[in-house]
Amino acid sequence: MTKVYLKKKIAQRIFNGHPWIFGNEVEKIEGEVSPAETVEVYYADGKFCGKGYINPKSQILVRLLTRKKEEINEQFFYDRILASWQYRQQIGYVENCRLIFGEADEMPALIIDKFNDYFVIQTLALGMDAWKPAIVNALQKIFSPKGIYERNDVPVRELEGLEQHKGYLSTPFDTNIIINENGLQFRVDVENGQKTGYFLDQQDNRRAIQHIVKGAKVLGAFTYTGTFEIHAAHYGAKSVLGIDISTNAVDQANKNAALNKLDKIVKFEALNAFDVLKTWGKEGRQYDVVMLDPPAFTKSRETIQKAITGYKEINLRGMKLIKNGGFLVTSSCTNLVNPEMFLHTIEMAAKDARKKLKQVVFNAQAADHPIVWGMENTNYLKFLIVEVSDR
Ligand code: SAH
Repeated sequence: MTKVYLKKKIAQRIFNGHPWIFGNEVEKIEGEVSPAETVEVYYADGKFCGKGYINPKSQILVRLLTRKKEEINEQFFYDRILASWQYRQQIGYVENCRLIFGEADEMPALIIDKFNDYFVIQTLALGMDAWKPAIVNALQKIFSPKGIYERNDVPVRELEGLEQHKGYLSTPFDTNIIINENGLQFRVDVENGQKTGYFLDQQDNRRAIQHIVKGAKVLGAFTYTGTFEIHAAHYGAKSVLGIDISTNAVDQANKNAALNKLDKIVKFEALNAFDVLKTWGKEGRQYDVVMLDPPAFTKSRETIQKAITGYKEINLRGMKLIKNGGFLVTSSCTNLVNPEMFLHTIEMAAKDARKKLKQVVFNAQAADHPIVWGMENTNYLKFLIVEVSDR
């Protein structure tokens, strides 16, 4: 087997368990390099480091799959997927969950979402993509699913020399499925929805709004298929308006409201949140609760400042729409904006809006997307509820 030797001075990251090995961290390679193949990795002093898959086309030359001298074969993938499933069940996720959260589950570049009997997978690196048949077999054996769908229509695959692609990995099925969440029903379009079709990472946070929305007039922005807003109606809001820039999302959201017989209380409109929040603020509109869940504002370090400006702007506008003593529910899924930076940004927005804040809840993503210490990008979601009052 091909052997990869690391340089003497390598990042502490690798010792600490992070699975990525960049090309410039490698001293020498013994043997042939065939893209996607399993290689053995050794430290400079000859000690065994682990086994992983290699891709000379990628900046991340090797992604480690194990730190043990074990075989990487079909059984390996079966065991890992089964272990992840057992872990999800142990922490309370049964019906819907992120079954595999890449690096956090020691399956670098693999995402699997479970929507009751249906599975959506993403293989985002060449080496993981090559194991797709083994992954599908494991899912078949463990779950006997009604359907498996591949959402590999993701640009990052191109950094690995892979093409973008989506399609069935099982016999074809109706890709518009319905899932249950917190006693509500939601349509999930696994073929054309955003990412894998549904944002499971907020599934626990959606329950966190339960008490603050009772009897409230609620505004939600960046609603996608309306999950937070429909939860608000379910938990007793008096009226809910949801806005999203995508007409497709708004259609789905209105259908979801009807599916739950809450369409008298919650309505969705296709509008640009940045524009209307500003206009409505000027007009003096007021809400008891404003909820914001924008998409990631940046993926590169160069534009973090721009992302922060975006968060400040949108939260400031949101706060101005909140009645004295009302609540702001606000999220950020931008990986590079860490929790501390996010809270600081909200604080700055409050200062400019002349508001006082009281923290009610501050959470990360649901626990089926495990956070692993030392892997910064597993801790990506910030979810905050604050009471907002006039200064
Ligand atoms: N809250 C949702 C997820 C939101 S994803 C959930 O829990 O499922 C972010 C959404 O923001 C996307 O649906 C996208 O269409 C929308 N969006 C992006 N830019 C926008 C803008 N300027 N105004 C309103 N919505 C926008």
